[in-house]
Amino acid sequence: MLDTLRRTIQEVNRAPDLAHALSIIVARVKQAMMVDVCSVYLVDNERSQHVLMATDGYNREAVGEVRLNFGHGLVGAVARREESLNLDNASDHPAYVFSSEIGEELFHGFLGVPIIQHRKVLGVLVVRQRDRRRFAEQEETFLFTLAAQLAGAISHAGASGDINRLLQSSDESRYALKGVSGTPGAAVGRACVVYPLANLDAIPDRVVEAVDTEISEFRAAVAGVERDMRMMSARMVDTLPVEDIALFDALILMLRSENLVDGTIEGIRAGNWAPGALRHTIAEHVKAFEDMDDPYLRERASDVRDLGRRILERLQSISPVARSYPPNTILVGEEVSASQLAEVPVGQLAGVVSARGSSASHVAILARALGIPAVMGIDDLPVGRLDGQELVIDGYQSRLFVRPSAAIRKEFQRLQQEEAELTDELQALIELPSETLDGKQLPLYANTGLLTDITPSLRCGAQGIGLYRTEIPFMVRDRFPSEEEQRRTYRQVLEAFAPAPVTVRTLDIGGDKMLPYFPVEEENPFLGWRGIRIALDHPEIFLSQVRAILRAGVGLNNLQLLLPMITSVSEIDSALGLVKRAYEELLDEGEELEYPKIGVMIEVPSAVYQIASMAKRVDFFSIGTNDLTQYLLAVDRNNAQVAGLFDALHPAVLRAIRQVIQSAHESGKPVSVCGEMAGDPAAALLLLGMGVDSLSMSAASLLRVKWVVRSFSMPKIQSLLDEAWTFEDAGAVRTLLHKTLEEAGLGGLIRAGR
Ligand code: PEP
Ligand code: MG
Repeated sequence: MLDTLRRTIQEVNRAPDLAHALSIIVARVKQAMMVDVCSVYLVDNERSQHVLMATDGYNREAVGEVRLNFGHGLVGAVARREESLNLDNASDHPAYVFSSEIGEELFHGFLGVPIIQHRKVLGVLVVRQRDRRRFAEQEETFLFTLAAQLAGAISHAGASGDINRLLQSSDESRYALKGVSGTPGAAVGRACVVYPLANLDAIPDRVVEAVDTEISEFRAAVAGVERDMRMMSARMVDTLPVEDIALFDALILMLRSENLVDGTIEGIRAGNWAPGALRHTIAEHVKAFEDMDDPYLRERASDVRDLGRRILERLQSISPVARSYPPNTILVGEEVSASQLAEVPVGQLAGVVSARGSSASHVAILARALGIPAVMGIDDLPVGRLDGQELVIDGYQSRLFVRPSAAIRKEFQRLQQEEAELTDELQALIELPSETLDGKQLPLYANTGLLTDITPSLRCGAQGIGLYRTEIPFMVRDRFPSEEEQRRTYRQVLEAFAPAPVTVRTLDIGGDKMLPYFPVEEENPFLGWRGIRIALDHPEIFLSQVRAILRAGVGLNNLQLLLPMITSVSEIDSALGLVKRAYEELLDEGEELEYPKIGVMIEVPSAVYQIASMAKRVDFFSIGTNDLTQYLLAVDRNNAQVAGLFDALHPAVLRAIRQVIQSAHESGKPVSVCGEMAGDPAAALLLLGMGVDSLSMSAASLLRVKWVVRSFSMPKIQSLLDEAWTFEDAGAVRTLLHKTLEEAGLGGLIRAGR
């Protein structure tokens, strides 16, 4: 059973679309369980029905025709109870309803299991037996396991429009691809898939332009790889035993095999470019090997992958890809990088979609600063099939629609229009103070990371920089920047904003922010070597950065220093010791320096309870709600599976924030919030009510938050906070905040929140 399960799952994962995946499932299950029928019913929410979508055993004409109302029949019972039903004689069950279209009278045994993803029933997987048959426990769990796998395939198929076509449904919003996080905004455009070179899996399909040239380049690439293999074999001849050298001969034979060469050429003739056609042939070969029973032959799949990579590398060196970007380009990739984003001419980039990454990835931070909608962290994004496709990005809810219907396209174009109008209206606020109706000031600062986003930060009227993430300039390089390189970069930001304050955070790498040239391999990186921990273990890196930051601020008098990921006071003491050392060294070297104000990030729960001790050592606090939420709620901020649980409005997070603000104020120290929560106009109201001294956010959110601040008085905000405090879950808090914004005529801002 386990072997059948493994193979079926592999086949399902490779199926080109949902219809194929379903027909594979029903055929394999029927065979493996030796039943007379296997069928899949899918949920059609629009019509509140279960629809027969695939069958092996029933009349195939019934597919798409047999529809059972919710709650109706045994299928309805399985879906409603979200439990399996195992009956030796179906018609004895009170929920049984006879269905003539499928010839049901002939069957007695029934086993149905629900197909559930993220708490939603997507369908029911059913097997039937002519004779009476009560299925064994292992059979039930086998079907259960397959249903769980199928759930993933179904929800992803929804994104490519497969389900809607199958169900002939127009309710596509249920099946949009869901990412972990995004940057606010709506975008409609064409996918332009970007990919790292020599990564065959990331190669998209693309229409071939000159078939003959493509074929001859492909042949040349194969010949080149064969030459490489022969050379490698010759080099190894003295060091490897004969039987190992024979491996190279086997690879060369594989390379010459008609299937590989002719298969790819056929693909090119059918209209795909050489790298795309190669990806398909290699995938087929890999599958053929993986399906073999002999473990030795199964292992050969990795040799095929390696050959594919080598041919691709050759192809890419023969004809380097010159990119052209259509208007309204939506950059799509397994892991879109900041430099790939920067290559798109200004004005042509409409959005970014990345299979990996989160709102903290530097490409997302850059997109946000430029006001470009993005969706990050879409598990299993079908990157290879997206090039040139029309896409709609819903950056507010981190959703992606592929080949959207006219209705969805129109809806998002309308949103874009509204956004543009709102942005125009908001411009009037740039020069106005950030204060409540009754005059309470709330300074609003911008978050920055790249020099590119200084201009939007200046233009939106930010009163300074509340968080300069210095890891970003480290991440876009291929080695550590020198002290002088760092000084020049930091100086540009400090100068651009002087005399307004600029809070420079020292290097916060680790977690999901890795430097390509400083790899850290960890089982659990968010609980590992991160932020200040790395800095203290590598004083040479920290010292050179602090020296660069202090030198960058010479004569400007607007520098503040911020320490990330503090969990205990000893870390502060050690870091302050190093800062002092760097400062004194520079004084000795003749620099005319000011000693900066120094603050710490409060983003780990342990820090929440040590504010009084920390306040004796530092000048200010900045709450990092992204990490604080992650650590308090035990929800990985990058994991799509649990993204629904990540919520900064959770009562525990709100209480932690309030406690930090109260304790800091008792010690006479100011508190800012610089996580994403600060840029959520609804949440900003609560923070203001809790007494936060300033907020720091992406430039794109700043005027929205200012509008909210200017629309309420402190007594109203206080009573809102009092009411929110009585709620026991985040959903209720959010509903209250949205209602309050709507009533104040600020409903247009709600989308910009979570
Ligand atoms: C945070 O954790 O809220 C924060 C601002 O830091 P980062 O997002 O860079 O981890
Ligand atoms: Mg953080």
